[in-house]
Amino acid sequence: MQLQLSGEKMSDVRVQFGPSVRKTVADEVRLLGASRALVLSTSQQSDAALEIAEQLGPLAAGVFCKAAMHTPVSVTEEAMSHVAETQADCVVAIGGGSTTGLGKAIAYRSDLPQIVIPTTYAGSEATPILGQTEDGVKTTLSDPRVLPEVILYDPELVATLPVAMTVTSALNAMAHAAEALYATNRTDATDAMAVDGLRAFVEGLPKVIADPSDLAAREATQRGAWACGTVLGQVGMALHHKLCHTLGGSFDLPHAETHAIVLPHAIAYNARSAAAELTPICDLLGGENAGLALHAFAKEMNAPLALKDLGLRESDLDRAADLATTKPYPNPHPVTRADIRALLQVAWAGDTPVT
Ligand code: NAD
Repeated sequence: MQLQLSGEKMSDVRVQFGPSVRKTVADEVRLLGASRALVLSTSQQSDAALEIAEQLGPLAAGVFCKAAMHTPVSVTEEAMSHVAETQADCVVAIGGGSTTGLGKAIAYRSDLPQIVIPTTYAGSEATPILGQTEDGVKTTLSDPRVLPEVILYDPELVATLPVAMTVTSALNAMAHAAEALYATNRTDATDAMAVDGLRAFVEGLPKVIADPSDLAAREATQRGAWACGTVLGQVGMALHHKLCHTLGGSFDLPHAETHAIVLPHAIAYNARSAAAELTPICDLLGGENAGLALHAFAKEMNAPLALKDLGLRESDLDRAADLATTKPYPNPHPVTRADIRALLQVAWAGDTPVT
C-alpha cells in the first residue's frame, strides 16, 4: 500500500489485520531485514510486551516498559540508551498511542524501522506525526522517519480494552475522520476514507459494547481506526484537535476522554459554516446537525460528557480559551475568543452543544 507523505515522499507501509496476527511478529522482523528487536510498552502492559518478546525468541534484543502519556523526552532518552546497549536494529511497540509515540520518538532519532501492534483506536500508528513533551511543553512534528513500517492489528489485543476506554478511544478515532471532512487540503480519497472510518465505528461500536469479546466487531473497529488514523496523517486538523491539544497539554486532561467530550461541541460549532461537508455524519447517525448527532451517539454509548468530570476547574476556562485562540489556524467557522469561551463553558458543564 502506498501512502502520500507531506506531498514529497511515498512510503511503503505493511498493514495486517486478524486474530492472532501478533504471532507473525518474528516474520515481520525478518522481512525488515532486522534481527534485534527492542520491544516497547507501558508498565501496565508489560505482560503483553513479554509475550511478544517470547514470540520473537532470539530476535528479541530487549524489553523496555516505561512508555508514558505525551512521550516525555526524558523517557525517550532512557530508551535510546537501551537501543545503544542492546544494539537494537528495530522496535516493536505494543500498546496505545503512548507506546506508539515512544517508538516514533526512537525512530525519529535513530531511523530504526518500527512494527506497531496497536491495542487502542487512537490511530497514531498510521501517521508521520510525533508529539513530545519536555519541561511541561508539548511540541508536535511531522517527519517521514516517524511513520511506522509495519502495523499488526490483532483484535484479540483490543478485546482487553475496558468498555469505558473502548468508547472514548473510538470517539478519539472518529474525531480524526470528522475533522478530515472539512480539512482545507482534503481530497476525494480522504473523504472516502473518513466516511469508511466513521461508518466502522457507528456500526461496530454498539456491537463491541454489547459483547467486548466479539472479535469480528473488534476487527471491524480496528479497520476504522486505521482509516481514521490514516486521514489524520494526510490532512490538516482544526478547532477540535486544537482544543484537545490545549486541554491535554496545559491542563493535563486525559487524551481519549477529552476528545470524546469535546467532539460534539467542536463539530456543532463548525457545522455553522461546514454543514454540507459534515453531511456524511448526519447520513450515518441520523439528524440534521452533525454535532447534535455525535452528542446523541456519545450519550447512547455512555461516553463521558462533561469536562468538569475530568477535573477541569471552571476557573481554568478563561485560560483555556486564551490558549486555544492566541495563534490563528485554518477552521471552517471563524474562531473568536468569546465564542470558544462559550463553547468551553457548555462542554465543561456537559450540556447539549450549541448549534
Ligand atoms: P495510551 O496509549 O496512553 O493508553 C492509556 C492506558 O491504557 C495505558 O496505561 C495503556 O497501557 C492502557 N492500555 C492500552 N491498551 C490497552 C488494552 N487493550 N487493554 C488494557 N489496557 C490498555 O492511550 P491512547 O489514547 O491510545 O493514546 C494517547 C496518546 O497517543 C496521547 O499522548 C496522544 O497525544 C497520542 N496520539 C498521537 C497521535 C499521533 O498521530 N501522533 C494520534 C493519536 C494519539
